[in-house]
Amino acid sequence: MINSVGYRNLVKAFDRMANCSGEMHAVLGSMRMWSIDNAVYIPTFFRPEELVPREAFKAFGDQSFSLMDARILWTADAIREWFGKPVKVNNWHSGGSLEQRGFRLQPINAKFSPHLYGRAIDFNVEGVSDEEVQHRIRINFGKESALRFVTRMEENTSGWTHVDCVNTGKDELTIFKGA
Ligand SMILES: [Zn+2]
Repeated sequence: MINSVGYRNLVKAFDRMANCSGEMHAVLGSMRMWSIDNAVYIPTFFRPEELVPREAFKAFGDQSFSLMDARILWTADAIREWFGKPVKVNNWHSGGSLEQRGFRLQPINAKFSPHLYGRAIDFNVEGVSDEEVQHRIRINFGKESALRFVTRMEENTSGWTHVDCVNTGKDELTIFKGA
């Protein structure tokens, strides 16, 4: 069985190959499934500081992923691969103001936000409107493997798309109204 480190190396190797075929991506997709057979997942496309606030990164450094659910980390990678474009969560580490869009230490609005439990991300896909991202998530839910751990999405947000892997007890995508 391939673990997430092995998977990451494989992605890098494939990335180096010119004209990586659709078939190869399908193979990669099936391996991605394998790579989350346990509670450990280290993202390919995200560094810890992109997913946790400064205070958490100061305390945990390279271990910051331990603050988050493996399934939401996997989902961040999977969405990045699905869209084939850079996905932005936080940017505080590069001088930006976004710090609370992955794991959160304190509530902003919702007292029980899944961000506080490391089960949610707010993100943008480069070059794709938030409306389009949310539309594609809605229409591909249940079909696209990148969404297999997504259980909820915030309704009609502008400026970000929120997805999480809260244990809703339902197979459908729950669309909720944010605070
Ligand atoms: Zn959110």
